[in-house]
Amino acid sequence: MIIKKIVQVGNPLLAKKSKIVSNFASKEVQNTIKNLVDSMRYHDLIGMASSQIGKKFRIFVTEVRKTKFRTPKDIDKLRIYINPEIILKSKQEIIIYEGCGSVAYGKLFAPIKRPKKINIQAFDEKGNKFKFTANGLLSRVIQHEYDHLDGIEFTEKIIDIRKIMSSDEYKKRIASKKNHLMKSQQNKCMTKEKRKSSYN
Ligand SMILES: [Zn+2]
Repeated sequence: MIIKKIVQVGNPLLAKKSKIVSNFASKEVQNTIKNLVDSMRYHDLIGMASSQIGKKFRIFVTEVRKTKFRTPKDIDKLRIYINPEIILKSKQEIIIYEGCGSVAYGKLFAPIKRPKKINIQAFDEKGNKFKFTANGLLSRVIQHEYDHLDGIEFTEKIIDIRKIMSSDEYKKRIASKKNHLMKSQQNKCMTKEKRKSSYN
């Protein structure tokens, strides 16, 4: 079931710690997972935690789908995390812009600094334990969703409030950055070509 109204920041539900899941097969847990997946896709988010749909389970989902703004290496399948634990964080930290369905329905983006890589372990919807290393955008989404389970909203971690952007402005800039990158790569190729021809 799609939950159309995502719980918005300011609602005390979002600031509470979520509870460990003990009965994986319960109807409420299984419904929560299904509703999270449906709602994440409906709202075009790449991750969603149970508190965002009004449930207090330690459950979140991620799915980094293809868009014109994401590189192919960012794309990742649907994953369900129950009782997750981040067991290792890289010392190296990077700044990435984040948005959240619970903050103005994802219309606000801001720079956040977090570890680049993480190791995470969790249980899937069938109760099977899994563990993997996440990097790039997936690592970022996992850390953002994990914070939701502890009642932490990404806005608490904004490193420079002067750099907040609307999602439209953010996307515009990524698009222009991408074009700029493509142009500079074309130029590089051209310079190489020129150099080559001058040797001939
Ligand atoms: Zn969020």
